[in-house]
Amino acid sequence: MLDIIRPDDRRYADLRHVYTATGAPAAVVRPRSTAEVAEALGFARDAEGPLSIRSGGHGISSVSTNQHGTVIDLSRLDTIERVGTDSDLVRIGPGARWGEVAAALYPWGLAISSGDSGDVGVGGLATAGGIGLMGRAHGLTIDRVTAVELVTSDGSVLALDSERHPDLFWAVRGAGANLGIVTSLEFRASRTPVVARATLQYRVDRLAPFLRAWGETVEAAPREISAFLYLMGGGFALATVVHAGDDPAVAGRDLTPFLSVAPLVGRRAELLPYAAVVTAARAPHRGRQGGRTHSGLAVHLDGELSERLEGLARAGFGELLQIRSVGGAVNDVPADATAYAHRHQNFSITAVAPYASPEFDEAWAAVHPSLDGLYLSFESAFTPERLAEAYPGTTLQRLRDIKRRIDPGNVFHQNFPVAGVPADNGAGV
Ligand SMILES: Cc1cc2nc3c(=O)[nH]c(=O)nc-3n(C[C@H](O)[C@H](O)[C@H](O)COP(=O)(O)OP(=O)(O)OC[C@H]3O[C@@H](n4cnc5c(N)ncnc54)[C@H](O)[C@@H]3O)c2cc1C
Repeated sequence: MLDIIRPDDRRYADLRHVYTATGAPAAVVRPRSTAEVAEALGFARDAEGPLSIRSGGHGISSVSTNQHGTVIDLSRLDTIERVGTDSDLVRIGPGARWGEVAAALYPWGLAISSGDSGDVGVGGLATAGGIGLMGRAHGLTIDRVTAVELVTSDGSVLALDSERHPDLFWAVRGAGANLGIVTSLEFRASRTPVVARATLQYRVDRLAPFLRAWGETVEAAPREISAFLYLMGGGFALATVVHAGDDPAVAGRDLTPFLSVAPLVGRRAELLPYAAVVTAARAPHRGRQGGRTHSGLAVHLDGELSERLEGLARAGFGELLQIRSVGGAVNDVPADATAYAHRHQNFSITAVAPYASPEFDEAWAAVHPSLDGLYLSFESAFTPERLAEAYPGTTLQRLRDIKRRIDPGNVFHQNFPVAGVPADNGAGV
């Protein structure tokens, strides 16, 4: 029997919200199996109100809860198993968190590059992209996906891989939220259970030259290096630089250039399990991390872009600016191999504001001309322009053709909807 949690259930308080938003759904359904996911979908379609699909509840778009509708919460589909002994193939449920994945894979000598937060869910990240702290070494998370199980809008269960439904397998790696509900994923993990991580705190006197120097250092680094930068306001920046390997001498050589990007006020370097880099707390969501984000990809942090980002900071929106490296193995993949088609950029840039405002939108509009494409997971505005940036060239049309076939009623329109949002949509409020 389906486990349906309604507002009078004592468990409801811990299930109604997500990381970025509060919600008041009429029901949260928690399936325990693929068959129950199909059943939950039938329940949701018969019920009134919007539908939300939730894996880890960390979507920046806040659409994995709603008002007065149904949430299908996949947190019980969280198994992590090795496919055969001594294999690097693993099968993972969408409800697992990336920190749990890292912890489970470590004893097998394996790891999967995901993102910088171990509490992010497998389902949301592995259907959109996955820019992680070993991304330049091992590619995006979706680049390691070898097979997917998908429940479609009519309740069918499909097995997808490069031979079975190759068009859906292409689409699920970058636009998965548009196709159906992913109930299981198989990944080819990498054999880098131990990494070297440097945590560096810089003093930043002028943002533009600092960003230029940071960008040049990242691009010059070997692909074993992935580097995330977080501007903290007050003239400081924090960097996490990961070398995907456990040889201290090689790691030391590769990390050294990062020591001279700007004056350091704090530094620490250590060899540690990847599982200690990305950890999960799995605390219930209270919806308190809300905000508005704008994002874009860039080939270089060149003079023009750096000056524009400095302008964003001057306008008061530089306090939470995040710059994640891509490039390396991410760009080995042909642009038409997955629905994430951005395979020539080196950086993903995201600005976070505490709330939506015309001032933030205007300040970001001044940065926008220097950007090249968009990773949808860091953008909270689903405008047609942003959709075209997320799915450039022929990608959007190809997705729309697939969408018409696989989800003709546009049931799955919650996250960057390729076919548009119906007028009566209530998701994401
Ligand atoms: C603190 C924080 C740090 C982050 N860091 C990174 C990072 O370093 N790199 C990176 O790439 N991303 C990062 N992200 C973005 C994150 O990858 C996305 O927000 C992702 O969608 C969250 O996945 P989730 O399962 O937790 O989210 P949810 O809120 O559960 O889902 C988000 C959306 O994905 C879709 N979805 C979820 N599960 C499924 C499924 N099983 N089948 C089909 N569609 C599904 C739904 O449309 C849903 O609305 C970060 C987010 C946060 C909040």
